[in-house]
Amino acid sequence: MAENRDKSCDQMKLWKESRGLQKPDTLTTGAGIPIGDKLNEQTAGPRGPLLVQDVVFTDEMAHFDRERIPERVVHAKGAGAFGYFEVTHDITRFCKAKLFEHVGKTTPIAVRFSTVAGESGSADTVRDPRGFAVKFYTEEGNWDLTGNNTPIFFIRDALLFPSFIHSQKRNPQTHMKDPDMVWDFWSLRPESLHQVSFLFSDRGIPDGFRHMNGYGSHTFKLINAEGQPIYCKFHYKTDQGIKNLPVEEAERLASTNPDYAIGDLFNAIANGNFPSWTFYVQVMTFDQAEEFKFNPFDLTKVWSHKEYPLIPVGKMVLNRNPINYFAEVEQLAFDPSNMPPGVEPSPDKMLQGRLFSYPDTHRHRLGANYLQLPVNCPYKARVANYQRDGPMCMFDNQGGAPNYYPNSFSAADTQPRFMESKFKVSPDVWRYNSADDDNVTQVSTFYREVLNEEERQRLCQNLAGALKGAQHFIQERMVQNLMNVSPDYGKRVQTLLNKYNAEAPKKPAVHVYHRAGASAVAAPSKM
Ligand code: NDP
Repeated sequence: MAENRDKSCDQMKLWKESRGLQKPDTLTTGAGIPIGDKLNEQTAGPRGPLLVQDVVFTDEMAHFDRERIPERVVHAKGAGAFGYFEVTHDITRFCKAKLFEHVGKTTPIAVRFSTVAGESGSADTVRDPRGFAVKFYTEEGNWDLTGNNTPIFFIRDALLFPSFIHSQKRNPQTHMKDPDMVWDFWSLRPESLHQVSFLFSDRGIPDGFRHMNGYGSHTFKLINAEGQPIYCKFHYKTDQGIKNLPVEEAERLASTNPDYAIGDLFNAIANGNFPSWTFYVQVMTFDQAEEFKFNPFDLTKVWSHKEYPLIPVGKMVLNRNPINYFAEVEQLAFDPSNMPPGVEPSPDKMLQGRLFSYPDTHRHRLGANYLQLPVNCPYKARVANYQRDGPMCMFDNQGGAPNYYPNSFSAADTQPRFMESKFKVSPDVWRYNSADDDNVTQVSTFYREVLNEEERQRLCQNLAGALKGAQHFIQERMVQNLMNVSPDYGKRVQTLLNKYNAEAPKKPAVHVYHRAGASAVAAPSKM
């Protein structure tokens, strides 16, 4: 029995074996001072009290008290692994970034997979998009392609992001997931229909992280050595094949093995079964972008594969598990504004919002010097800047080099060849309302042409099974949105809802405590 255990279950045994006959180190405090006894507090007499001078105790306890850093507001539960990206096809006609400079070139990568809405201890097999973020450690600094397992997203304007996430997380009073909040938001914002339809289709519960595709999702810009720009999207397709979990199996795993996806990835790599993805780009010229029937920067839409075929670029292979989860995964910080020369942002409003939001989060979560952490530092490049100080400065803080720019002592200077590409922007500044920017055409194609009949049935079943938890007026608004995509879609979901609503037991009205304009914290009762 013990011989058949997963590698993840045997981690401690394997670690011991890896040390061979090496003697245990002398136990020390954090300051490296050797410790004589780590099992008994230092007390006045055998029954106490404890002495403040017991540094063995206070050193241990004070650090323990500070073990948790704030979990990510989104993508809190995840798994990470390391490996390499290898160029298999030349794309230097599009992009001058050094990592693409010749076929056969390899670049180290770190990848973090995650669910989105659940907390750090939540189950891996819930219906939720999956994060698929890749960090390329290039000679021109780190490139973070902060992707997902879907090519689209629920919203197209980043101002809505905090509200969208609030609607998916916990109710401010009950601290429970709340179907009214989820479906109220989605039904009020029909641009979410495309992603909601992906989410409730079979791909909404991938079988672990190895059997799903990844997408950079946003539109980016590539710049070649001649300075010519072209718009682009990134796709990484699983070489393991797409595999999804049936709903019942996902529910069973959520209670019996909530870390299913983390374990699956860890064990595959530990067994030498290295997962890989084939990396593609789609490109669109600026002229084509002008003519494109949709806004090419709209994150709720795809670029058709038929019109903009996938161009192979390379492969990504994951062949190393993290040595320590906290150091290499919990502290792993991705930032879409990290792009090497040759890759630039498009005007995509969601991308523009993320360029600010991600590094802002990391500075809060990990501190101002988070880029000095080993897993985040651009170790293939040399950092030379005028940033200094801040909490947890880990190296020599650039010693005696000047800390202001310009200076006459020239510690680090700019190079014009690394200037970003120039582009024209002349429209009026305004808060442009994009709510009705064709929310249905691509969803309708997906529903009618991509899914087969059985997949359509499962989509409607999954969607109605979740929507039934919301109030009737929200259900009605959502069904109307689905009708706009396809009357068949709307009618099927409505039929299922009619059945569920008829079966639902009539509950007595619940009294919820409200005090308008006052704190919801109950005042202490008078004694
Ligand atoms: P294609 O027929 O060329 O592409 C359809 C794509 O749909 C497939 O290549 C596959 O993308 C994806 N797909 C297949 N089954 C599912 C599923 N069950 N759930 C989610 N995606 C699936 O047509 P178009 O490129 O013109 O796209 C048609 C529609 O397909 C779009 O409106 C969109 O809804 C959907 N789609 C398109 C993608 C794109 O980047 N063009 C990507 C994903 C979906 P993949 O190869 O990436 O797995």
